[in-house]
Amino acid sequence: SRMAYNTTERKCYSIVSYLEIILNNCVYLLCPISLYLIYISYRKNINKEVNTIAFEMAISSSLYFILRCGMPLHHNYPTMLFDVPLLLAFSKKKTGFSIVISIVLIIYQTIFLRTMPLLLIVEYIVYFLGYLHLNKYKFSLGNLIHGFIIVNSFFLAIKVFWFISPNGCYDNNIIYLCCIIIVIYLVSSMILYFLYKGEKIVDFNNSLYNIQKEKELRASLFKVTHEIKNPIAVCKGYLDMLDPSDNKKCTKYIPILKSEINRTLILMDDFLDYTKIKIETEEIDLVMLFEELDSSLRPLFSSKKITVNYNIPYEELYFEADYNRLKQVFINLFKNALEAKDDTKEHSYIDVTVKETESNIFIKIKDNGIGMTKEELEKVGQMFFTTKKKGSGLGTCLSKEIIKLHKGNITYSSRKGEWTETNITLPNIKVMS
Ligand code: ADP
Ligand code: MG
Repeated sequence: SRMAYNTTERKCYSIVSYLEIILNNCVYLLCPISLYLIYISYRKNINKEVNTIAFEMAISSSLYFILRCGMPLHHNYPTMLFDVPLLLAFSKKKTGFSIVISIVLIIYQTIFLRTMPLLLIVEYIVYFLGYLHLNKYKFSLGNLIHGFIIVNSFFLAIKVFWFISPNGCYDNNIIYLCCIIIVIYLVSSMILYFLYKGEKIVDFNNSLYNIQKEKELRASLFKVTHEIKNPIAVCKGYLDMLDPSDNKKCTKYIPILKSEINRTLILMDDFLDYTKIKIETEEIDLVMLFEELDSSLRPLFSSKKITVNYNIPYEELYFEADYNRLKQVFINLFKNALEAKDDTKEHSYIDVTVKETESNIFIKIKDNGIGMTKEELEKVGQMFFTTKKKGSGLGTCLSKEIIKLHKGNITYSSRKGEWTETNITLPNIKVMS
């Protein structure tokens, strides 16, 4: 009874160790494929070439791992799951790549498993012919896998009976052979299923993402046409009323027409700016930037009776940024501050404060204009949000994008009727010298 117990125990043990071997082999095969799936889902809508390269790298890695670390499914037969990568290459119709894999497999088995090269060459040619045949007719994964298994079992049987145990125990061999074929069948189906299901899910996610993008695009197009339609409708209204012989009407309406058309042009300029923004950083001097801005905007500010106070305790302040883009941001901010001027107040001012720390540069622009309500404050930075008759609602949006491209941050705070404050944080990147 002790003996019997021992044999059952050993049998159990060997079944568990077989299972472990199969699982290990599956892990070697699946790891690179999973990484491939993660990669293509992370990089949405990659083009076909990149996809091909990623796929071929994944399959090559699978092949490498299974050849380097994979274990034979049975100690008597030199059979591993190394044909699975070939099957995957076939399933994706990578003809050239599958030839490469076949050659690698032939060389490997000749050298390390001492299989007859001629037999291997015949085997892989049969695979390839089968693949070509399937390619010509209807190509279904089921057909592919069944054809693959039939060829595989046939050659496995030849290897087992002819070369390895010509005078061994046939009954046992047949059982083992059947088991191995079933294992190969299940594993290759499972891995193929995993790959295809994974790709389907990624595809589905991508199309969801595309639909979302398209929706956004449509919404913004709708808004643009809407924004452009308004001034043009106004122009049309005035033109309808215009009588060329009536000089009085002409002098009254033509400036309005001009300003409406101007507004449309500005809107379109802003929108074009917005769609093609890109930054090119270089070493810039922020102090110089403000000096330049001040000299060009000073006439405008003094005509509106606005004092600008600079609190910049530096002679110069160098860091990496895009000079013209930052200038654009500050012009937008100054313009908004100017337009927010509260005429009921005795003094109107704009305070500019710049502070530098080791890691950041802080810029604060504060005006004592009309301020914003809580609702307005929430919407600042949204495309086309404006409270102005002739506003485009793109200035703050553009500024936000530019600061974002600098890996910085822009925030607004305000109290209605009192003040508005814009805070910009930029990373303080110094040029290595
Ligand atoms: P626009 O200036 O064309 O209206 P912006 O994107 O520059 O577009 O600004 C959007 C809105 O944000 C403005 O219409 C205004 O209501 C509000 N806003 C921005 N800056 C200020 C400010 N400094 N003071 C008060 N409101 C402001
Ligand atoms: Mg503006």
